[in-house]
Parts: sequence; C-alpha cells; structure tokens
Amino acid sequence: MAINNHIKMNFTSNSENIGIARVTAAAFAAQVDLTLNDIEEIKVALSEAISNAIIHGYGDIVGEVECEMFLSDDILEFIVTDYGVGIADIELARQPSYSSDPERMGLGFVFMDSFMDELSVESALGKGTTVRMIKKITNDKAH
Ligand code: ATP
Ligand code: MG
Repeated sequence: MAINNHIKMNFTSNSENIGIARVTAAAFAAQVDLTLNDIEEIKVALSEAISNAIIHGYGDIVGEVECEMFLSDDILEFIVTDYGVGIADIELARQPSYSSDPERMGLGFVFMDSFMDELSVESALGKGTTVRMIKKITNDKAH
C-alpha cells in the first residue's frame, strides 16, 4: 500500500533536542508495523547522527541541525544535515573505533551502519555534513 509522509524538523544544536528527535522518529516509524527492535534501532541510529552533528559538526558553536523523515512505499528514510566543520576523510571517519576525539569510542557510524539498511555520508570541509539512512519495511511488516 502506498503510504507517503514527510516531516522536516529544524533545531538548534543543543543536546536536549536529541530526545525530541528520537521520540518524533519513533512516532513516525510507528505508522508502519515495524518491530520494537526496529524502532529502537532507528532511534539509536538517528541519535548517533544528530549527536555527531552537534558534537563534531558544531562543537562549541550553536548552529542549525535539520532532520528529515520520509516514508514511502517500502522504506523509511532519515536525513540529518549540519552546516558545521565538515569531515575531511569520510572513509576514515566511518572506520570502526575511529574518532577524532580520543575520549570517544568512535562507534557512532558503526551503529548507523549496522542498525540501518543503507547509510550514505556527504560532507564538505567548512560547509557541513549530510547523513542519509534508510530502513527497509519488509512486506510482512508493512500494513
Ligand atoms: P562516538 O559516536 O562513539 O561517541 P565518535 O562520534 O567520534 O564517537 P563516530 O560517530 O563514528 O564516532 O564518528 C567518527 C568521526 O567522524 C568523529 O570522531 C568525527 O571526527 C567525524 N564526524 C562524524 N560526524 C561528523 C559531523 N557531522 N561533522 C564533522 N565531523 C563528523
Ligand atoms: Mg558519534
């Protein structure tokens, strides 16, 4: 069944807003019959992308984060954009355990990769970063 929906949220890069995006994503995903596990995975992946935008993209600067959610026939898509510092080497950044901050685990992209069906990262230094994630809705779960 063709269900289509779209939400676009813009918020300042305060970590308080991660929780708002999480509950919004859970409510958005609840339009289709995903398992609780799938919804939990979406919440974690989205939180990781937004945390990165806030912590790495902007750091001490307050900037705007965009978070879009799309539902089309058989996919849920989440797009997180920041207009911060950008990533110099995306391949390196996506390596498990790589972090530019020695106090962090470097696992954000690992969670996004393993919890979502598709992950793509676009970035330009000094311009910002866009992370796209897709969760497929398998036939037996769709309405
Ligand atoms: P963790 O997520 O485990 O707390 P982390 O954030 O360092 O640690 P990842 O989320 O995997 O690990 O990100 C890896 C690296 O990619 C970061 O350390 C950072 O250098 C870079 N990075 C990720 N997202 C962004 C972003 N939006 N803007 C700039 N750099 C980013
Ligand atoms: Mg991270």
